[in-house]
Amino acid sequence: MNTKIHHKCKVQVRNEGMWPSYHPCKFKGIIERDGEWYCKKHDPVAIKEKYEQQDKLDEEEYKRKDEQWQRDIAMNHYCKNLTTEYMETHQAKTK
Ligand SMILES: [Zn+2]
Repeated sequence: MNTKIHHKCKVQVRNEGMWPSYHPCKFKGIIERDGEWYCKKHDPVAIKEKYEQQDKLDEEEYKRKDEQWQRDIAMNHYCKNLTTEYMETHQAKTK
């Protein structure tokens, strides 16, 4: 006898199209959060973690761009007093 209760994911999914309309998520609820059931995709904790992960990536990207920017400024500053001829000669040497 199968006594296992099947929960449905409680999330309403937005339908494609011009007008906002919603249909219940078709997936089975497999994760319980505060008495509500969610499928793997709509698990609020997983979604939160995903956002936090994205925030972390954004932060790293921002830091990387900031460093690049600082480097550009430093490079411009360094090259300001150099002639194009000098830079070309120097570049030729490093090749
Ligand atoms: Zn769902």
